[in-house]
Amino acid sequence: MPYTVALTGGIGSGKSTIANGFAALGVDIIDADVIAREVVEPGTPALAEIVARYGQSLLTEQGTLFRAHLREIIFQSPEEKGWLNALLHPLINARTQQLKAQACSPYVLWVVPLLIENQLQHQADRVLVVDVDEATQIKRTQLRDNISPEQAQRILAAQATRQQRLESADDIINNSGAPEDALPQVAELHQRYLALAATKQD
Ligand code: ADP
Repeated sequence: MPYTVALTGGIGSGKSTIANGFAALGVDIIDADVIAREVVEPGTPALAEIVARYGQSLLTEQGTLFRAHLREIIFQSPEEKGWLNALLHPLINARTQQLKAQACSPYVLWVVPLLIENQLQHQADRVLVVDVDEATQIKRTQLRDNISPEQAQRILAAQATRQQRLESADDIINNSGAPEDALPQVAELHQRYLALAATKQD
């Protein structure tokens, strides 16, 4: 398995923006959110199992998973949440391992928004946190998603705190400045990760 750097950060901290910076340097990106959507795409066994358990109302008119409805079910029932996790986690895990095994770059960047919340730190060789203060997170999330400050605040409140994330960090990118301010930090970390990855393979 390639050396794995987990990239995390709160909503609106700049994970996608920073991941693009690493991708531009030739690093393979594995996106946990993309995988989580992939395993329940139309035609997958997991989607069929979900529909078998909860009925056709779990499907949109287009035949895709009606996520809001599923969220509501698991929000109301820890037992159903357990059932869903038992179904999806092994699939997500297997797909993640498969993508890691296929990676061509000296190390991979595994983008995991809920790394800390789901206690997945141990699955990475190194944890990189994108850090901005909460006011900046709220402002950028509002602008990107066109939501109210209250909505952004609610999403933040449901995530790990800035402090919790920083405590798990091996490395930190400060993304509170202009986008171009982060690029030298990305370049420097890239060199460090290349060196660490070379050590691991030795
Ligand atoms: P995340 O993936 O962590 O939710 P994004 O990378 O989507 O965050 O960034 C959130 C928003 O903030 C996006 O609209 C992005 O273009 C913008 N953004 C990211 N970094 C900066 C920055 N340094 N300065 C200003 N805006 C930024």
